[in-house]
Amino acid sequence: MNINRDLTANLDYFIEKFGSSLSPEAIIKEDILRQGIAFDEVSHEENFSSKSYFIFSFNVDNDGDVINKKYPEEIAVKNGPYNLKRTIISVRINKTSPYIIKYESESGGYKLYLEGGYIGDVSFSPEKSYMLKKTEFGKSVRDVAPTIEWGYLIYLAVFRMCQYFENHTECAFCDMNSNYLNQKKANKNYSAVKSVEDIIGALSIIESSEDSSAGAYTLTGGSIIDEIGFKGDTEIDFYVRFLEAIEEKFKGRWISKVVVQAHTQKNLMRLKSAGAYIYHTNFEVWDKSLFEKICPGKSKFIGRDEWVKRIVDAVAVFGEYKVIPNFVAGVELSRPFGFESIDDAVNSTAEGLEFFMSKGVIPRYTTWCPEKTSKLGKLGNSSAPLEYYVKLLLKWHELHYKYNLPVPEGYGAAGPGKAEFSVSAFMDAFKVETI
Ligand code: SF4
Repeated sequence: MNINRDLTANLDYFIEKFGSSLSPEAIIKEDILRQGIAFDEVSHEENFSSKSYFIFSFNVDNDGDVINKKYPEEIAVKNGPYNLKRTIISVRINKTSPYIIKYESESGGYKLYLEGGYIGDVSFSPEKSYMLKKTEFGKSVRDVAPTIEWGYLIYLAVFRMCQYFENHTECAFCDMNSNYLNQKKANKNYSAVKSVEDIIGALSIIESSEDSSAGAYTLTGGSIIDEIGFKGDTEIDFYVRFLEAIEEKFKGRWISKVVVQAHTQKNLMRLKSAGAYIYHTNFEVWDKSLFEKICPGKSKFIGRDEWVKRIVDAVAVFGEYKVIPNFVAGVELSRPFGFESIDDAVNSTAEGLEFFMSKGVIPRYTTWCPEKTSKLGKLGNSSAPLEYYVKLLLKWHELHYKYNLPVPEGYGAAGPGKAEFSVSAFMDAFKVETI
């Protein structure tokens, strides 16, 4: 039998060439994130923290076969031919991925393979005691306040239906509303809108749990368009209520991070006064023309130039290094609108990185998962190449060093073997001596 190992040879090439600058862990992590993982078999008896579908599906495949099965939220890979330190990676199910996890009864553990070649030993995200508990109102902590990043981050997605979908202007890479509908079919307790009481109840359970290692929470959800509102609330009205209640009860317990649209300084002052410490307003893709095509809702209701201006203006409210907007790395190469070449894509994004980093903003990214339930997925897109992610990591760290920026707060530990942030490798690629 001829085994085609092109992807393995490609991975080996990048690790040999850039492993010493970026770490083999960061390179492999990007390769796994971009392509997703197939599972040979996962026992339902295993005690692990399963995918909570906390905001998007983050799966390439989302048919009934996938969403009715229990898969780990994250895996940690270590050892193997690259002598990997523990590397935490978000699980994105892709039934045809070249990365496959198999259970081997002889060695008593799960192993990761790429094109049939052994990559490393796998462990699943540990189940925390609080995830199985219910609040006094009968709500599951896993649904209301799941933790990700190996327990570091409490993810409070309090509004899981973005209003941009109602206008057919959703971001082209996003599957939030279809994820909600899918999950609702599989789990009748999966909630679209959470209440302040639910959140406080779940956080109280986490706070008093001995096995909690949470260091931060993210408060977020889909966009609420101010001209439309939600039950009479603007977006800021809606989120401030949660923030005030959380910070009043648990002040200083966790780093607070808020992900909402790009707002005026007046609105941001309300978030800040309510207790927001880090402000994320995601610019998704830097190129102006791509932003308009890939993020039509953000373009229509706020506008790309205004969005960028508000990110920079936010530094005056939250302070230097506390404005951390996300972009979806890889969509610059998506069809039909994206760049033709990897270098053009990286150069465009690097322009945006430098613009923000020179102004005390620390942009960060998630590795694009081309969910088949998103617009881009329906157009047949698959992931961006590994070369793009390697070049992006090199550029991100070069600019981060050039502007003498700190490791961003609220992302847990940095460096190979330590990083907990699971949806891209920018935290894994920090050099130990620079942390
Ligand atoms: S703003 Fe865009 S990425 Fe965010 S939930 Fe809405 S459609 Fe999705």
